[in-house]
Amino acid sequence: MRLSRYFLPVLKETPSEAQIVSHRYMLRAGMIKQASAGIYSWLPLGFKVLKKIENIVHEEQQRAGHIPMLMPTIQSADLWRESGRYDDYGEEMLRITDRHNRDMLYGPTNEELITDIFRAHVGSYKDLPLTLYHIQWKFRDEIRPRFGVMRGREFYMKDGYNFDVSKDAALHAYNRHLVSYLRSYERMGLQAIPMRADGGPIGGDYTHEFLVLADTGESEVFYDSAVTDLTFGDRDIDYDDVAQCQAVLEEFTSRYARTDETHDEALFNAIPEDRRRTARGIEVGQIFYFGTKYSEAMGATVQTADGKSVPVHMGSHGIGVSRLLGAIIEASHDDKGIIWPESVTPFHCGIVNLKQGDAEADAACDALYQSLTALGLDPLYDDRSERAGGKFATMDLIGLPWRITVGPRGLKNGVVELTSRRTGESEEMTPEMAVEKVA
Ligand code: ATP
Ligand code: MG
Ligand code: MG
Ligand code: MG
Repeated sequence: MRLSRYFLPVLKETPSEAQIVSHRYMLRAGMIKQASAGIYSWLPLGFKVLKKIENIVHEEQQRAGHIPMLMPTIQSADLWRESGRYDDYGEEMLRITDRHNRDMLYGPTNEELITDIFRAHVGSYKDLPLTLYHIQWKFRDEIRPRFGVMRGREFYMKDGYNFDVSKDAALHAYNRHLVSYLRSYERMGLQAIPMRADGGPIGGDYTHEFLVLADTGESEVFYDSAVTDLTFGDRDIDYDDVAQCQAVLEEFTSRYARTDETHDEALFNAIPEDRRRTARGIEVGQIFYFGTKYSEAMGATVQTADGKSVPVHMGSHGIGVSRLLGAIIEASHDDKGIIWPESVTPFHCGIVNLKQGDAEADAACDALYQSLTALGLDPLYDDRSERAGGKFATMDLIGLPWRITVGPRGLKNGVVELTSRRTGESEEMTPEMAVEKVA
């Protein structure tokens, strides 16, 4: 992409409404624009990152054997009356009446809708196990939307639902989700720690939240520092292997790590003192096993091998896709701007032309642009006639991992400059070598 043809409305001033760094940088980098409280338009740069994160989530869910689909945002209140949650959910639910006076709502989550789909089409244990998921906009009328996309009212969420014949089978689905979530967050360059949590309005007492440690997080967390040494890495996992998935769950959840909702002072104090930590965290996902809560209320049953009709065992599993942009920026930035991990960066590298209009510099930039594009990479070429300082500031703000700087002086010696956003280190090399390093 050539910057002169792109839409990147960078702000010079720091917006006064933004209290935390990720919100400030997302506004300043022209990634989002508030439409109304807690509701945002995703401008091209923000949209690109959102799609990259979404894509990682899709890949890891499908690797785990979970099946993508799409449910609507607007739901009928009748289903929620069946489960009893129409009254229970409270003011976070946006209720709508259509022209025929029917009660509708903008879905805050989808347990009812998916259970309705299940009961209409599945009746036998032979069709199980089954895990369906979608990535769709949700609406929750948060009392205090804030911190940009971190606590929006409209937000993008992956929510998956498992259907199993027994509690044991459903707990295997729970473990599969835990593993696939660990993999997803790590691919985004994040450490998200599974912590014992509270069921809330979804219900169930078998649940973990995934938290990214950050001072700006809204949750208070208590943990054994040993949990921060754990990484999933690139180990092989067979998602059908019950024992292997269970072992990962045990490895990642046996040490003390809890949110304030389930915190137990006595257990916490049993950890050696030098490993006790109290901190803040950002909730980027949660998994639940809630058994037959919805299937019993809504009559979702299956026939077992010995001919009995039993309510199906279920769980639900969410990832805050749009919140993750904020969480990644909170975890990876400096005072100049964002530092994107390679896996989610909106463009692979920036090309800065120090002297736009200089025939040699222009030709060298065009050649770099073409070589990078031919390799399937996605460069952002700043081809505007601006001062170098302004171009560098924009590149630093939007946080691309690499910058290739091209100017007449270097070109005389046949070199360009390659700069790493993370380390700030620059090195002169031939354009060919720069392409090789970035690729
Ligand atoms: P929170 O405690 O932050 O209100 P939640 O526990 O109500 O979140 P869940 O029902 O567990 O949320 O939804 C799954 C995920 O969706 C959360 O882990 C979070 O990452 C994301 N999420 C929830 N509410 C919001 C919101 N208002 N804005 C952005 N993301 C959200
Ligand atoms: Mg909430
Ligand atoms: Mg929560
Ligand atoms: Mg939650």
